[in-house]
Amino acid sequence: MTTYKDPLSKYLRENFAVEDRMLKQVRRATPEKGLPAINVEPEEGRFLQFLARASGGKKALEIGTLGGYSGIWIARGLHPNGRLITLEREPEHAEVARAHFAAAGLSERVEVRVGNAHETLATLDNEAPFDFVFIDAEKQGYRAYFGWALEHVQVGGIIAAHNALRGGRVFTTNESDENTEAMRAFNSWVAQDPRVISTIYPAGDGTLVAVRVI
Ligand code: SAH
Ligand code: MG
Repeated sequence: MTTYKDPLSKYLRENFAVEDRMLKQVRRATPEKGLPAINVEPEEGRFLQFLARASGGKKALEIGTLGGYSGIWIARGLHPNGRLITLEREPEHAEVARAHFAAAGLSERVEVRVGNAHETLATLDNEAPFDFVFIDAEKQGYRAYFGWALEHVQVGGIIAAHNALRGGRVFTTNESDENTEAMRAFNSWVAQDPRVISTIYPAGDGTLVAVRVI
């Protein structure tokens, strides 16, 4: 049986974020294969698919692959000739993700690169510019990832960052932790950056979105 976080989540999932068999299977299989169940929610995946296409949809980059669940949504939003490069530090996660991309018929369009993303990014200059960059790895790295992304998208390109709300802890003053502090600082830093127009999509755990304007 499907359970929903709240009525908004249920409404979005039933109307816009309907998972096909493959997405359901990948969402279930990821924790079964021993990976943490920290993939995006279906309604967030749908939003990523939307952003991938709205940004131009030719070239996307994801930082934090896990089992490929969000990657499938992103890849499905791309232009028919579009490509996704997705970065993952853990070889076991990358292996699971590759199997999932293959099962989804996306091997030709999605490439998983293994290693610490901070190092892999330094090798990606020749792949730029990207239309869309999705950040979903360690929270302390978000500022560096966003800085890199902004230099590697064109005007009109979109950068998104997951877990912007940290379960609501970013806006409650009595609950905090290191990652929430990092996210709070990151959100306000992006909000004040004149190179982008930004906001937060509040479904799921919140996704910060920024479109490059200069
Ligand atoms: N986007 C995925 C979930 C990603 S979870 C989805 O929604 O389906 C975060 C992933 O980032 C984990 O697989 C973790 O191993 C990876 N990760 C964490 N720090 C990293 C780093 N510095 N470089 C590359 N990957 C990293
Ligand atoms: Mg996340």
